[in-house]
Amino acid sequence: MTKIKAQPGIMDIALYQGGKSHVDGVENVLKLSSNENPFGPSEAAKEALVRASHTLHRYPSTDHGTLRAAISDVWGLDPDRIICGNGSGEILMMIAQAFAGKGDEVLFTEHGFAMYPIYANANGAKPVVVAERDRVVDVDALLAACTKKTKVCYIANPANPTGTMIGQGDLERLADGLPAGAVLVLDGAYSEYVEGYDAGKSLVDSRDNVIMTRTFSKIYGLGGLRIGYGYASQQIIDVLMRIRGPFNISAPALAAAEAAMRDVAHTEKCRTDNAKQRDWMAGALAEIGLPSDISTANFILVRFASEADAKACNDHLMTQGIIVRLVGGYGLPNCLRITVGDEASCRRVVHAIGQFKGASK
Ligand SMILES: *Cc1c(COP(=O)(O)O)cnc(C)c1O
Repeated sequence: MTKIKAQPGIMDIALYQGGKSHVDGVENVLKLSSNENPFGPSEAAKEALVRASHTLHRYPSTDHGTLRAAISDVWGLDPDRIICGNGSGEILMMIAQAFAGKGDEVLFTEHGFAMYPIYANANGAKPVVVAERDRVVDVDALLAACTKKTKVCYIANPANPTGTMIGQGDLERLADGLPAGAVLVLDGAYSEYVEGYDAGKSLVDSRDNVIMTRTFSKIYGLGGLRIGYGYASQQIIDVLMRIRGPFNISAPALAAAEAAMRDVAHTEKCRTDNAKQRDWMAGALAEIGLPSDISTANFILVRFASEADAKACNDHLMTQGIIVRLVGGYGLPNCLRITVGDEASCRRVVHAIGQFKGASK
């Protein structure tokens, strides 16, 4: 055993902590810790999944052609420059694998998604953490942190766990300011929640150093199936295609994702309802003295007076069977991230937090 050593960087990885999903001894648990869609997937996606069960002895498509066609139809992307992955996480990992190795640097921001340093370390590259400005990605700070070794810059827009986003001008400035040979990754896991946002399509179409990723895990309600996609210049796609496994996505996942993509009415309903419940929840919590930044995603980041307060509220919610997310690991110890649920769930969590505030006065 002693002679077996992992590649440099791998033992620096702290295991990813997922959102909790049960509370001992409590029934009727409300899970608002993993940014899942409270409505679940489209009915059409569920039907497609059942149909796919009849042909499980067949290997899946390797070119994902019908799914890429559906994505192209709905979002207007060039189907030849779409790559599908086992969750967008697989694509985010492939980007680091393809473009960043030993001696290279991978940039992301201080409250960025916890997987970004893992992608860097897993490939022997150096993770470089850049400060944000009041929980918003700071393009100037990112550009100032660039060196000749910078190869990948990951940002999520909207960002997780802050829920904040940056505008088109800032995105363009970032894409144009990165050193030659570095790629900008726009992680659009929550982009469908933002009305009118193209998730980076126009940047990808006008530049060769940008890749956007999107997922079926959030608004499409298919986190359990593991499927996502990326969109980039032909040059970047040609690189990623070489390292993608030929059967990286199961046939049921491909079938369900295609049906989910084409059920635009369901997506629209989820987006509209999310915005309504999110804004109600943020407003109701602000009224009892718990502010949050304006969120463009399907969660809010609620700020407490102290770390002790955030933890005490989390403990109280647990006794009520409500699971939210402590985000100390994201450098936000006095905050709780709360996923937007359906109307009844939002009322339940606001009521429970109200009880906590009343008791702690
Ligand atoms: C949830 C999430 C993803 C989605 O990952 P999948 O592998 O597609 O499930 C990606 N990025 C961020 C920032 C997320 O919060």
